[in-house]
Amino acid sequence: MRILLTNDDGIQSAGLKALADALVGAHEVTVIAPDRNWSISGHNRTMDRPLRISDVEMGEGYKAYSTDGSPADCVALANLGFLEQKPELVISGINHGNNLGDDITYSGTVAAAMEGIISGIPSIAVSMDIEPIWPVDVGAQFVSRLVEQITKHGIDPDVLLNVNLPNIPHDEIKGVQVTTLGRRIYEDQLIKREDPRGKTYYWIGGRVIRNEGDKGTDVAAIADHFVSVTPIHMDMTNHRLLETLRGWDLRF
Ligand code: MN
Repeated sequence: MRILLTNDDGIQSAGLKALADALVGAHEVTVIAPDRNWSISGHNRTMDRPLRISDVEMGEGYKAYSTDGSPADCVALANLGFLEQKPELVISGINHGNNLGDDITYSGTVAAAMEGIISGIPSIAVSMDIEPIWPVDVGAQFVSRLVEQITKHGIDPDVLLNVNLPNIPHDEIKGVQVTTLGRRIYEDQLIKREDPRGKTYYWIGGRVIRNEGDKGTDVAAIADHFVSVTPIHMDMTNHRLLETLRGWDLRF
């Protein structure tokens, strides 16, 4: 399969290289990734300036490029003609940290995969918990197996698989669950301070205080030491409300 690899942590990330090295034996792999960290940048495309692309030495058997664009720009570049042939699968990751529940709306990792399915290419976003160590080769092995299954069963072009891995020793991972999106509750804080010139600045921060893990969600799967695979699509229509809204007196 012709696979485009990208990420939001930047071209130098060990998670990106682990994926490339694991997939290159069986697939035609090309890496196009941002030249800097775009984590928590959401889904954005660069329209107000040109994009530059540089060759990068990364590993044996595949070409790698870095750009000064966003993760979604990397996918657009590949799809719009920078590569001779369009990719058949986009894989974004392995991200440094999980992307669970609502996180996917902030995530540059998932945004690159969303750009994939918007362009009609099935996509995988892969994220892995970072503490206490970050065994990206374990994550890359699982992605190889998932790609094998995609090759065997096929996948629709509008499907994004959001994969999350717990960070525990390999033999303690209990298995794989196919999940729905759950909820992570953050304790967001606004910190107000003064800079050395006496001007006020604000810093928004937050930590996870609770993982609301109803059974069957990605959040619960990770808490229970399973790998989580959530199928995502881009239809954000609230179908439950269609009939209700049509019953309103919405005159113009
Ligand atoms: Mn990231």
